[in-house]
Amino acid sequence: MRKKILDQPIDILSLDEAAYLIKSALINPKQFKIITLNPEMIINALDNFEFQSALNNAELIVPDGTGIVWALKLKGYNNALRIPGIELAEKALASANELSKKVAIFGGKKDILEKAVNVLSNIYPRINFVKTIDGYQENEDVIAEEIAKENPNLILIALGTPKQEVWINKHSKKFPNSIIIGIGGSLDVWSGKKQRAPEWVRNLHLEWFYRVVNEPARLPRVLRSLPRFIYMILREKVNSL
Ligand code: UDP
Repeated sequence: MRKKILDQPIDILSLDEAAYLIKSALINPKQFKIITLNPEMIINALDNFEFQSALNNAELIVPDGTGIVWALKLKGYNNALRIPGIELAEKALASANELSKKVAIFGGKKDILEKAVNVLSNIYPRINFVKTIDGYQENEDVIAEEIAKENPNLILIALGTPKQEVWINKHSKKFPNSIIIGIGGSLDVWSGKKQRAPEWVRNLHLEWFYRVVNEPARLPRVLRSLPRFIYMILREKVNSL
């Protein structure tokens, strides 16, 4: 169910429904670009034409942020649910494993990527990891060609936002039959370098706060976008009354 907040597209569905769509796209191959959206990204879209275009071209955009769910509920969409990007990527990997599909990963630091692929290969032994390339390359356009040659069913791009979404959109024509997901820092978690927030913190909808506390470098990003996001959402609400 596609809705809009601050004029930006967002889909309301459950994690299982999103996982079902991914599995269907693995069984009947088609291009399926997925963006996991948080408030910072919405604010970015307002000023960044390339990212805006990536959003408009995505087949699925899920709320990966408490702020997005809050904004949707304020608009009356009470069934809005958060879908953490890492959990959606794990669902995609589980289906790729079940169906013995080809997976490519582009992004992350070299050692982190290697560790993560090791861990994932153990969890998902039937996946064929056809290409894994770290995210610090001089020519990122060449990488798209290299990945396309392998014709992977699932491509995980871990370059951080908005770089990963812009890369996916720019090169999408090369991947007509692939599911492509921007996975941000998921490799850091799978490799064991970083931990996700404990479940009780997640249940309090404070995973974003936990990340800021553990990675203070994120604070300026959050401070730049969150107050503007809240202000704009409240203004949109007042104007709609
Ligand atoms: N990264 C990368 N190439 C770059 C910039 C970042 O591969 O040029 C990786 C980085 O190593 C990390 C991920 O992208 O693994 C970004 O993680 P972050 O948690 O910051 O994701 P975001 O919140 O920006 O989506």
